[in-house]
Amino acid sequence: MARTNTRLDHDLRDEFFDEGKRLDAEPETRPASVCWLCDGRIDYNVGAGTAPDSHHLDHYFPVSTHPELQQDPDNFRHSHMLCNQQRGNGSPAPELGDMVPDWW
Ligand SMILES: [Zn+2]
Repeated sequence: MARTNTRLDHDLRDEFFDEGKRLDAEPETRPASVCWLCDGRIDYNVGAGTAPDSHHLDHYFPVSTHPELQQDPDNFRHSHMLCNQQRGNGSPAPELGDMVPDWW
């Protein structure tokens, strides 16, 4: 089962970004919107995937090993674009044909 990039995937990413932005707007809920990899605040004022500290939807269980969880919101984590890229997908070697960025 290959990673999908359907309309639903796109909508899920948009919704997840909006949720993070809402959480970030209130000091009480902001801790839930920070990058789960570095605990740093994410810049929700710029579009997802447009800058190193912009928002990325990271998958707690990488899609490469858990494709069935790609569209499961319980598997979503807010992260920085840079942190997500540095984390990679945990697979030992680059996957052939997986050159499309995860977030787009
Ligand atoms: Zn980070």
